[in-house]
Amino acid sequence: MKLIPIPAFEDNYIWVLIDGTQAVVVDPGDAQPVLDALARENLQLQAILVTHHHFDHVDGVDALREATGAVVFGPARETTPEPRTAVTEGQTLLTLGMNWEVWDVPGHTAGHVAYVCQPAGESPLLFCGDTLFSGGCGRLFEGTPQQMLTSLTRLAALPGETRVCCTHEYTLSNLKFALHLEPGNADLVAYQAWCLAQRNQNLPTLPSNIALERKINPFLRSSEPTVLASLQAHDAASVDQLGAFATMRQWKNNYR
Ligand code: ZN
Ligand code: FE
Repeated sequence: MKLIPIPAFEDNYIWVLIDGTQAVVVDPGDAQPVLDALARENLQLQAILVTHHHFDHVDGVDALREATGAVVFGPARETTPEPRTAVTEGQTLLTLGMNWEVWDVPGHTAGHVAYVCQPAGESPLLFCGDTLFSGGCGRLFEGTPQQMLTSLTRLAALPGETRVCCTHEYTLSNLKFALHLEPGNADLVAYQAWCLAQRNQNLPTLPSNIALERKINPFLRSSEPTVLASLQAHDAASVDQLGAFATMRQWKNNYR
């Protein structure tokens, strides 16, 4: 199968997964670049998957549904464009000839879901919206640190080769903060150099993968002694993993 990130807005990616002539799109915040890609590659859109209700993930849904007749799946606990099939934790949807698991991953928004699938003979795919970013995670607009930590801990337990399809190109800015916390992390230093080279050629840093994120993403590393020590030096309230995670998320909000 072919996986394409379509750049949209300032720094969004709209992911399209293609099997032959059939395609699925995740979080189409804008319809036109998706319609252009479908026309260019002569594709039929089977389904539109939505992770959460923010405009940059849903504003293209109606136009795409009308133009293609694709079915729409969206998070049961959030309001997203109708008509749709509401999905939640434990449900499986069938499209592109395979099963997609739905996971509830609250934190960025209250009803945020992720989609996990395993194309035959390929590494698994995770479409995680604004929950997990490469080197970072989404802001807590509606959820608590505990919810986000639980969501991220679940995602981090996916097989290491799982490809992480995040919806924003925030990687370099995330790595700057990550290196502030872990200046001695050699994987992080090497990854930053690779990401810089990618961005200098105007190429995406995504998809990432779970094994890499476990090594470099501080939001998956809030129990690592080096990360904890940096957070405790910043804010003494970082006594345990949850306190450290909350400190880290708060700090990153204001970090430049
Ligand atoms: Zn969002
Ligand atoms: Fe977003």
